Amino acid sequence: MNTTGLKNDNIVALVDCNNFYVSCERVFNPKLNNKPVAILSNNDGCIVSRSQEIKDLKIPMGAPGFKYEALIKKNGGTLLSSNYALYADMSSRVMEVLAMFSPDIEIYSIDEAFLGFNGFKTRNLAEFGNKIKRTVFQWTGIPVSVGISKTKTLAKVANHFAKRYSAFKGSLCLLNDERIANALAKTPVSEVWGIGRQYDKFLRQNKIETALQLRDADDKFIDHYLTSTGLKTVLELRGYSCIDLDDAPISKKSIVTSRSFGKQVSELSELQEAVSEYVTRAAEKLRKQNCVAGLLIVFLSTNRFKEGPQYNNSLSTTLFPPTAYTPDLIEKALNLLEELFLPGFEFKKAGVMLADIIPEKDVPLSFMEVNYLDDKRKKLMETVDKLNRIYGQDTLFYASNGIKKDWKMRRAKLSPHYTTNWNDLPKVK
Ligand SMILES: [Mg+2]
Repeated sequence: MNTTGLKNDNIVALVDCNNFYVSCERVFNPKLNNKPVAILSNNDGCIVSRSQEIKDLKIPMGAPGFKYEALIKKNGGTLLSSNYALYADMSSRVMEVLAMFSPDIEIYSIDEAFLGFNGFKTRNLAEFGNKIKRTVFQWTGIPVSVGISKTKTLAKVANHFAKRYSAFKGSLCLLNDERIANALAKTPVSEVWGIGRQYDKFLRQNKIETALQLRDADDKFIDHYLTSTGLKTVLELRGYSCIDLDDAPISKKSIVTSRSFGKQVSELSELQEAVSEYVTRAAEKLRKQNCVAGLLIVFLSTNRFKEGPQYNNSLSTTLFPPTAYTPDLIEKALNLLEELFLPGFEFKKAGVMLADIIPEKDVPLSFMEVNYLDDKRKKLMETVDKLNRIYGQDTLFYASNGIKKDWKMRRAKLSPHYTTNWNDLPKVK
């Protein structure tokens, strides 16, 4: 496998909120502490978040609430409807605390973020992980688990152990090769980030059952049978960082598009272009999995590690009926941005998150409003997606995304899109 140009001395942490929606409810209603609590989805009453006590009752994720209501009540527990405006707000508070610990933060989902620790090599990172955990809890009331390792995929593994085994007290730093190998040996291949069910079955048939076996699999086998995503996963298990959040496995809970700008941005018009483009990308991903979203969040931040006035904030709006229609989402996002924006600041980053994600097929048809799925809008989106797939990203794009895009990350050295764009195909002379 070719690892030229890839770094194997990165350090990255994954911070993940425990039972996030339940934890948000408990912050404001301490009576729910130490009792079984489950949160129901908006539409079909399925369980979308479970407290540890609910997990101990062996009530599965996604189960219909009514089926377990009696059992939960009998054990002194509570079933609650989801309150996404609250979760969005708590999420932004948690992310704000996390942003204090590293200039390099990538929000992965409503309750997870990666923190880059490359400048922190001389620190006691195990202690640093504990400090993050303590601080988030003290300042927001939300319990989190912290996993630290060399790549995002390995940080996910570390986080999993931190959460599962009480001996680690919610934080685990896996940087030593022997400890990494031990953890991978105890991790079923199906639990590796990005290994879907399809892969799992195939790998098992080939006697690859643990993450360690996948890491150490024969290069020829990997090159031959795995897609480029699978290859990246193996490289990451080997300690080479190569997964960008842009092509990371999609979180089921939420879709995030967020990027640091290529320069400091202070004009609203430039932020509008950026946010509009992020919404476009997020909505494409949403439609690709045949889903609609019920919540839209827009966030904005200055560079906390640079001198000058600081401002970090986010706003959300619920989407009812849930939708995947880009023009509507852009309009709503730009309204939120206008409310969020304050002149006089130099912004470093903006982002968009879609949450309360449900499959199209689960959207109830009894809404009073015209549903995105029933009318021409869905057809239009399908056509746009198809054209952009065939002729390249942004063949058709929204005027609000802008043309010049001065705010974009500088990518002058980006290699051509050899495999995804006809114009970038190498020519034989
Ligand atoms: Mg979580």
